Amino acid sequence: MGRLVMKFGGTSVANIERIQNVARHVKREVDAGHEVAVVVSAMSGKTNELVAWCTEASPLHDAREYDAVVASGEQVTSGLLAIALQSLGIQARSWQGWQVPILTSDAHASARIVGIDGSEIIKRFSERKEVAVIAGFQGIHAETGRITTLGRGGSDTSAVAIAAALKADRCDIYTDVDGVYTTDPRVVPKARRLDKVSFEEMLELASLGAKVLQVRSVELGMVHNMPIFVRSSFDKPEDIDPHGTPPGTLISSEENSMENHVVTGIAFSKDEAQISVRRIEDKPGVAASIFGPLADANINVDMIVQNVSEDGKTTDLTFTVPASDFARAKQTITSAQDKIGYARFDSETDVAKVSVIGSGMRSHAGVAAQAFAALAARNINIRAITTSEIKFSVLIDAAYTELAVRTLHTLYGLDQV
Ligand code: ASP
Ligand code: MG
Repeated sequence: MGRLVMKFGGTSVANIERIQNVARHVKREVDAGHEVAVVVSAMSGKTNELVAWCTEASPLHDAREYDAVVASGEQVTSGLLAIALQSLGIQARSWQGWQVPILTSDAHASARIVGIDGSEIIKRFSERKEVAVIAGFQGIHAETGRITTLGRGGSDTSAVAIAAALKADRCDIYTDVDGVYTTDPRVVPKARRLDKVSFEEMLELASLGAKVLQVRSVELGMVHNMPIFVRSSFDKPEDIDPHGTPPGTLISSEENSMENHVVTGIAFSKDEAQISVRRIEDKPGVAASIFGPLADANINVDMIVQNVSEDGKTTDLTFTVPASDFARAKQTITSAQDKIGYARFDSETDVAKVSVIGSGMRSHAGVAAQAFAALAARNINIRAITTSEIKFSVLIDAAYTELAVRTLHTLYGLDQV
């Protein structure tokens, strides 16, 4: 017997029929003798609708009330799933974030989990054989007693945090794809599903554009060493052997990772903008004078490239920001031109970042060099390059994204044969 957290995303609970399908997945695990906590998202499209209602009511609204509104989507699905489970003869009870409780910071709309008390849920596992159906995405700020939400996609994070608090053996994330792929299969039809990925690789994949999991959920999994299994909710519950190995991707610590490819996957993002600040003074404090105000404006800066100054007087600084933050970034920098002291502001918004990820890069030389040659052979110009221990990223013109991703996918032997 084991203890499982099963998380179902929006498409998996999109309507009553799908919720009944989820109930049968849960029943399968309960029948196999497991103690189960389920974490649900809102029905697909629901959160978008609720967010839009807030904006319609007033473009600038109180974040506490936004949370009160958007948390309701998960309240509905948790109750419905409990009903569907009960109708299958399974003891089940729904739990809102405040009822568990899932304690968070007071950063409304993007709160962080600070603690979860799972004792009552665990007690009910043993005393009543009761399945806990927990509303994802939401929590409560203890001091104010207000409902909070964790930011879009936050129910992944709820699930992993709950798994850690309940000391579960595994956190299963059921979604509309059957695992994590070497890259987006819509761009590269030959993309393969990965059986195993390390936390670190998944962290890079998720941060750099793969949309399967919220980045924070992977961070939490890594911190608590909680294995996360990404699998499809579209497989028929009846066809799955609860003791077998279903298709999916196991995200776990590297020691467990059997596959030792040099490159594990390729992520990309077209929502990038490049900014170059030309001829800034080469002296202590200039980088801080640019990135400080950007950080204050809550703009995430990614690739940063600074040249070694040729004359010891001025240098160029190039970096990327999310395309949606470009206008604000430009305004932040150009309005402080005198203070920063630079000659010119250049930018390009039609750019994409393509990233190659693999923990094998630690022990292999020349991985990036191969990519540069392959991209050159395709006549793709590289605007900027950054590297870290287990990944490198290139910034290219957005029009070449698909070509670059396909080229690199083949180059590193990731294509399905
Ligand atoms: N329903 C929330 C959202 O759409 C949380 C989640 O689905 O993870 O962002
Ligand atoms: Mg999601």
